[in-house]
Amino acid sequence: MRVGVLGGGQLGRMLAQASQPLGIVCTTLDPASASPASQVAPAIVGAYDDRTALLALADVSDVATYEFENVPVDAARFLAERIPVLPPPPALETAQDRLTEKMLFAAVGLPVPSFAPVDDVASLSVALKEIGVPAVLKARRLGYDGKGQTVVRHVELAEDAWRAIAEAPSILEALVPFERELSVVGARAQDGATAFYPLVENHHRAGMLHLSRAPAPGVASSLQSAAEAHAAAVMNRLDYVGVLAIELFEVAGELLANEMAPRVHNSGHWTIEGSETSQFEQHLRAISNLPLGPTDMRGAAVMVNLIGSLPETEDVLAIPGAHLHLYGKAPRPGRKLGHVTVRADDERTLADRVERLLQVVGEPADP
Ligand code: AMP
Repeated sequence: MRVGVLGGGQLGRMLAQASQPLGIVCTTLDPASASPASQVAPAIVGAYDDRTALLALADVSDVATYEFENVPVDAARFLAERIPVLPPPPALETAQDRLTEKMLFAAVGLPVPSFAPVDDVASLSVALKEIGVPAVLKARRLGYDGKGQTVVRHVELAEDAWRAIAEAPSILEALVPFERELSVVGARAQDGATAFYPLVENHHRAGMLHLSRAPAPGVASSLQSAAEAHAAAVMNRLDYVGVLAIELFEVAGELLANEMAPRVHNSGHWTIEGSETSQFEQHLRAISNLPLGPTDMRGAAVMVNLIGSLPETEDVLAIPGAHLHLYGKAPRPGRKLGHVTVRADDERTLADRVERLLQVVGEPADP
């Protein structure tokens, strides 16, 4: 089996690493010449809209997938005329637009924050009155890690907010007073079978994921079942194949859907050491028409992102149960350079190890 991956970042690198024991060869396509994935697997350097590069990728692949959700949908469609592209391009297209994404969630019955489309100051003023303040205005496209969004606290500040997001077509959402942020990562196979990991609790710093705790503490089985039902509903509607992540807000025992990623996800990195089957292997199994693997946990795990600068390797490795993953990137403020997953069989030991790890890693430098 040969898998072509659009994108050569750390997700492509970890997909390639997971592919090797399965005898699968991943080839990535990325505009950067020294991408993280290119350091561990065959890579084609080219723009995503470069037809020659896409044809070269199709030539060495039996199936194509993405590790980066802002790949142009046209590139996925162009490949799909030649080889299967999974998850299906409509899943990519839906996830690239916050409005179509929220409409899909609502259509398949997922609770979502109140939302309204915004195309100009007038529609923003109407939406602010309808939804109320505080609210969050988000550009429909190309926002990530909290970029391209602004909180609106007064109806009269519509013009400032509209300028703050560069007058881009947007969506206004109620600002949810959530108790915590969770995510569900699951996979759907070509025969429709599904598998889910336990809900993960996510903590952000400066809009970026800083730490994930798996399993999320204190999750009732009814909440886990609700999250799985939500993810299954989305995947079934999209005839989805592969790993999907949905970011959720927990409010008063209910889950509101925020956004989805049609790919492996940062909040699933802990599965490399913390689960019987990693999310990367699971994604490859699904798109290669192999059976999904079990998702049982091996103890509990906490994943900490290494953002902006790197700790000393020996300090990380001196912590029992700590697993270091470096992405082969040059340090830069605000850049995800790697992650560490700490695992333990009991909560007390895990808490001690995480405390040591956070001392070694320090605070992420501001971008
Ligand atoms: P997003 O880019 O949609 O993931 O948003 C980035 C972060 O902003 C989220 O992780 C939340 O912490 C916060 N956020 C986004 N949307 C809302 C919302 N409707 N209510 C409250 N917080 C939000």
